[in-house]
Amino acid sequence: MERERIADALAGLRDIVGDAHVLCAAVDTARYFTDWRGRYIGDALCVVRPATTDELSRVVRLCADAGLPMVPQGGNTGLCGGATPRAGQGEVLVNLSRLNRIRALDRDNASITVEAGCKLAAVQTAARDAGLLFPLSLASEGSCEIGGNLSTNAGGVHVLRHGNARDQVLGLEVVLPDGRVWDGLRALRKDNTGYDLKHLFIGAEGTLGFISAAVLKLSPLPAHSALAWVALDDAQRGIDLLAHLRAQASDVLNAFELVGREALTLVLKHMPATRDPLSGVAPWYALIELSGNQPGLDERLGAFLGARMEQGELRDAVIAQDLAQAAALWALRENISEAQRIEGFSVKHDISVPVSAIPCFINQAGERIAQALPGVRIVVFGHAGDGNLHYNLSFPQADDNARLLADAATTNALVYETVRALAGSVSAEHGIGQLKTQLLAECKSPVELDLMRAVKQALDPQALMNPGKLLPPPSI
Ligand code: FAD
Repeated sequence: MERERIADALAGLRDIVGDAHVLCAAVDTARYFTDWRGRYIGDALCVVRPATTDELSRVVRLCADAGLPMVPQGGNTGLCGGATPRAGQGEVLVNLSRLNRIRALDRDNASITVEAGCKLAAVQTAARDAGLLFPLSLASEGSCEIGGNLSTNAGGVHVLRHGNARDQVLGLEVVLPDGRVWDGLRALRKDNTGYDLKHLFIGAEGTLGFISAAVLKLSPLPAHSALAWVALDDAQRGIDLLAHLRAQASDVLNAFELVGREALTLVLKHMPATRDPLSGVAPWYALIELSGNQPGLDERLGAFLGARMEQGELRDAVIAQDLAQAAALWALRENISEAQRIEGFSVKHDISVPVSAIPCFINQAGERIAQALPGVRIVVFGHAGDGNLHYNLSFPQADDNARLLADAATTNALVYETVRALAGSVSAEHGIGQLKTQLLAECKSPVELDLMRAVKQALDPQALMNPGKLLPPPSI
């Protein structure tokens, strides 16, 4: 009976999207069932790949009628296992990558309407071709997709100036868990007509429905930019530098990234064609980007850094002289995750604290970790302008990492206790996925958890959308 139900469902899915887009063979499905880090490996009845909102709606209706749980997946670059199906649960993985048309671009309204499966880089390019900017920017932008970006409320390097993914959205189209389509594709900057439903789906990690399309805000494309790589004695110098930049150049400040030496060392070790742009070794670096329409940003950045250097606040600095040098400096920052992946296992934390508390977090967490795990390597980097750090631990000798893995709970507790004592967040930009459901239960109040569960119950009463992700099990 169960077999028949599943066979009928698979046949129905093939009728909707075509045989070629219902994948069942292990050789075809493996890459969809493993997350980017290779940390989660699941399985599903099949991978189904709809190409239009109508196909998606029919797929979802069929699954809902058959009582089959669904896992939305975009570019599969998420770092919390949110897009990986759980093993042995009979889920259907719905991959949105074929739903990838740019539907419209309205120059005068500075907006673009795109489908969920559009790669982030494709949206950036479409905006640039029209003389506009889509400012969301992540190191994974060549692979991640808009539906995934909105479902994780992605951050990235330009949050300091433009805000998170949520801040770029004017309207959404959503396929609800029963297959109905909510057309909220409004392109309005002002619309006070009741609850702003789009914000429920943004950051919901696919637990409330499928984002199928979005109207995104575009910004003016800056004509000029300047980029510097700066060596610092400690993280406090970085935060001081950021405060000076905010005071003197907030009109053009575009990115402020902090990079610890261990992170740079891994990039230089694993990424071909990278080189240290400065002589000498510093414990910390900042990558600073200015952009705007006035010429002379290089000179402005040079004068600013020169003055700070005279005050003894920086060790050294280099300003990119051309686009190739700028790309090489950005590559040092953007390849850190990839270099860590090549290096091997690490215990990762994506945390945020108030910007002013970053040095305190680094010192306090560093001391506690060094005491608990002598010799551990702490790789720290992140979007310091937003108070967001990636705080990752591994031993230089891979064999020692078994100890780290065995002790991950204790290590995590040390990091997260420090975060919480500083009124920070245990997930700044990557979300909860499967990785942090227990942690969510620990750090949200019963009232907040009740409200989240009430929203889930209202929108997905059959609990078919991405089960086991984001929300802790009811018993917790
Ligand atoms: P997926 O991984 O496919 O899915 C992520 C979640 O969204 C899952 O829960 C999935 O079920 C859900 N989902 C996907 N599509 C939909 C949809 N259409 N409707 C409903 N739910 C959906 N993240 C940052 O925020 N900032 C960074 O700077 C950053 N840098 C990164 C660098 C690297 C090298 C890598 C590998 C990752 C990085 N990430 C970063 C994490 C990741 O790229 C983001 O979380 C991204 O937004 C995920 O998009 P995706 O399309 O890959 O989503």
